[in-house]
Amino acid sequence: MENIVRKELEPLKPYRPGKPIFEVKRELGLEEIVKLASNESNLPPFPEAIKAMEEAVREVNEYPDGGCVVLKEKLAPFMGVPEENIMVGNGSNELIRLLAMAILNPGEEVIYANPSFVVYPTVTRMMNAVAKVIPLKDFRHDLSAMKDAISEKTRLIFICNPNNPTGTIVYKDEVHEFMQSVPENILVVFDEAYFEFVDEERFAEGMKYFREGRLVAVLRTFSKVYSLAGCRIGYGVAPKFLAEAVNKIREPFNVNRVAQAGALASLDNKEEVERRIRLNREGREYLYEELAKLEVGFIPTQGNFILIDVHRDCVQVFKKLLLEGVIVRTGEIFGLNTTLRVTIGTPEDNRKFIGALQKVLQESA
Ligand SMILES: *Cc1c(COP(=O)(O)O)cnc(C)c1O
Repeated sequence: MENIVRKELEPLKPYRPGKPIFEVKRELGLEEIVKLASNESNLPPFPEAIKAMEEAVREVNEYPDGGCVVLKEKLAPFMGVPEENIMVGNGSNELIRLLAMAILNPGEEVIYANPSFVVYPTVTRMMNAVAKVIPLKDFRHDLSAMKDAISEKTRLIFICNPNNPTGTIVYKDEVHEFMQSVPENILVVFDEAYFEFVDEERFAEGMKYFREGRLVAVLRTFSKVYSLAGCRIGYGVAPKFLAEAVNKIREPFNVNRVAQAGALASLDNKEEVERRIRLNREGREYLYEELAKLEVGFIPTQGNFILIDVHRDCVQVFKKLLLEGVIVRTGEIFGLNTTLRVTIGTPEDNRKFIGALQKVLQESA
């Protein structure tokens, strides 16, 4: 009977999320847990979003606004594009999948980096497309090698910027050169889930190429700086014909009412966004200092997470950190066996993480 499952799906494994807090509490009998594993925000949603979502909860007997019409009216000026170019998804993850479904035929090629976001391989295989995986170079996208991997069959290129799990970015001049050599009929997806946290001048914004009329999609999300990860809502910008294609194949009510209400209310509070970006920056500086003292390697980050090198088996360190009540992400899933990816949390979370790491590293010295 199992034969009915498409055989191409066999090598896939289900997405392994960061260990949930309740599970760790239950397994280890710990009361206080700090989760720094999934690059969520450890702060609650914005106050006006909570209020709007509470009201929306009372109305979930009704289907949501299927076309996200009201939210698109707000996102369009926010992104500086017409509404016809806006896509809204059940997380930007859904948009990644819908874009792949809209354009990929079996056997066509998709180029992406490794390690990078784990969803790109999944959607590629799901569509029976062929992955051209380009290793990072010095932990950054190797755009020159990605360019060289382009063939007649290439349809789609993912650029995760900043890159998850490394926190690195691609630079304006590099992307400029890259885009010049990418044929006009290949879709370049700029996955900018961590866009808001970036403060490097050299960061290459995907929107520049959209405005130039190139075949690009730019993806953003409410899951990170807006603290709405649990609601599942992301958005993107794409040429009209592509946004329309995505609109045709999405589920009729793909973005739920509560998520739409929360997103809509969050967009008005620019000060809170700024405050959270500042907090992230302060947390980042704190971690840089403390990690250097612990002689732990790290990659300077433009996201709300940091990839650190503990110079020993990361799974062991992960397990010991768990016993201290700190959940992080191990790097072995990305093929980086001595690294941990740690979300930058609140000042208290960060202190707790550093305290726990210090203890664990001393024990295993
Ligand atoms: C977190 C993240 C997203 C956001 O996903 P949502 O589905 O919007 O929650 C997208 N891309 C990358 C690379 C991410 O790390």
